[in-house]
Amino acid sequence: MSAITATPSLVATVHPVAEDAISHLAALTAQRDREMLDVSLAQGVLELLSVSSVGVYRLVGRDEEPRHWLCSGLARRGQLTVSDPPWVDLESLPPLGAYPMRESVLEARLLEQAELSEEACADPALRHVTVLPLQVEVGLPGVLEVWSDKPLSLQALRPIQTLLKVFGNFQNLLESSQRDALTGLLNRQTFDASFLKASMPVASDLHQVPAGERRAVPVTGYWLGVVDIDHFKKVNDGFGHLIGDEVLVLVARIMRQSFRHYDRLYRFGGEEFVILLRGGNEVDAMGAFERFRCNVESYPFPQVHKVTVSVGFTEIQHQDTPNVSFARADQGVYQAKHQGRNQVLCFEALVREGVLASEDTHIGDVELF
Ligand code: GH3
Ligand code: MG
Ligand code: MG
Repeated sequence: MSAITATPSLVATVHPVAEDAISHLAALTAQRDREMLDVSLAQGVLELLSVSSVGVYRLVGRDEEPRHWLCSGLARRGQLTVSDPPWVDLESLPPLGAYPMRESVLEARLLEQAELSEEACADPALRHVTVLPLQVEVGLPGVLEVWSDKPLSLQALRPIQTLLKVFGNFQNLLESSQRDALTGLLNRQTFDASFLKASMPVASDLHQVPAGERRAVPVTGYWLGVVDIDHFKKVNDGFGHLIGDEVLVLVARIMRQSFRHYDRLYRFGGEEFVILLRGGNEVDAMGAFERFRCNVESYPFPQVHKVTVSVGFTEIQHQDTPNVSFARADQGVYQAKHQGRNQVLCFEALVREGVLASEDTHIGDVELF
């Protein structure tokens, strides 16, 4: 038996860039928060390349309406990495057509590079732009935009393309694990984490980005709505489970069309849905839930024709756990069913009117799931 001695030529060496890329992959795949993922990607690419600025931009907007660019991660040399807040007003974001290069990269799924003239860009550090497509199949489509003083070589871009592949795979996995397979809405398991995040006050100074990139909407409250389809058992019994499932898919679609792009929509299993609404007062929240209720009532469902929903909602209090606010909204649903269905009721209004007592919400003995 001969001892194996390692000669320098036999020892595998890891190129410093590859090593950096691997540590960024490790940081990326440790993320469980879909919004923070893009911030980590921008930060990682900025550190891997010696460039001036890296941005991740996602297309947001409802299915049939014009899309807008949301900056989901922006890292600039020597500055704090930031992103547009997810609740930014859609109309204040740049439209799809404002960035033709991003648009064509998304369409062709190939990277593009361009050099800006001195007149177009006074800052020599931002003279060259490279746009790469994000390889995502689930979730919002998007691009990675890199600004540099020199054009980026193919060699420099190779580890970035690998990073983007792994990023895409990971994001697809994360998205699918957080969504309900039938409707594509967020699932119950992700509700608790989002609830805590959505109910936390926002430090606006963490979101300083260049003028025109975003405008935050002032926040005055968070509302939780519980939706239950009326007489859904009759749909299943009369038309079969397949038609029942189609109704669920259509209700989810109407829900996406009725609420804002940043409101969180969940399917809690069965024919029950939950909405986390951000901003506005009780009248605004009632308006949003009523709009949804009317949209369902007036939708011509195939075969079944008419479907209605009962909705209960409540304002989220700072000391609330997800279960406690859910239980209050659910009492609204119960009351709506009792009063004849196809209506929206606010828990706080029911308490004011003396229909419900505020101490009706017992944390310990509410059976939720
Ligand atoms: P109410 O107006 O009081 O809410 O009456 P309901 O019939 O909707 O209420 P109930 O809770 O008694 O029935 C819910 C039904 O939802 C029971 C079940 O047949 C159906 N259901 C639950 N999950 C699914 C699903 O994933 N697909 C289909 N097709 N039906 C489901
Ligand atoms: Mg039910
Ligand atoms: Mg029902």
